[in-house]
Amino acid sequence: MQVKSETQTGFKSHLRIIPAWAWALASIAFIAAQWFFNFEMVHQTQCPPAWGRFLLGLLAGIGAVCLFALIGYVNRDAKRRGMSPTLWTIIAICVPNGIGLLLYFVLRRPLPSSCPQCGNAIQPGFNFCPGCNYKLSPSCPQCQRIVSAGDTYCPYCGTTQGNKAAQ
Ligand SMILES: [Zn+2]
Ligand SMILES: [Zn+2]
Repeated sequence: MQVKSETQTGFKSHLRIIPAWAWALASIAFIAAQWFFNFEMVHQTQCPPAWGRFLLGLLAGIGAVCLFALIGYVNRDAKRRGMSPTLWTIIAICVPNGIGLLLYFVLRRPLPSSCPQCGNAIQPGFNFCPGCNYKLSPSCPQCQRIVSAGDTYCPYCGTTQGNKAAQ
């Protein structure tokens, strides 16, 4: 039985929903930051040393990439949660200091579950996807109740769980 790390697949699935335009904007912003700090800043009177400019450029570039990736994420994530993607993208961009993004993550609706494998809608309490039989959450083979991925025994009926003990 294949047991995937939940956090890892979760993070990857978050990255996967970030649209291509967000990555494109992030790349442009990163390059622009390098250009600004390494070339444009040279013309200013109070210019930091080369290593300082390089570091600033790198930090600003990474910051910009994160920002655009997050904005792209909000845009897609809002849509799949039944919230207005346009409204939340505007809020994420226009409310300064990341507060718009923060607001989004505080106020966002719980995800109407969808199968990570085929995208089929999942009702709360489903253990398997009705579309592709994907195992949505580890369940006890004896009583079929949901157990944690790390459980050795079922907390409801005490049956040994195959995931850890068998391997
Ligand atoms: Zn499925
Ligand atoms: Zn059980």
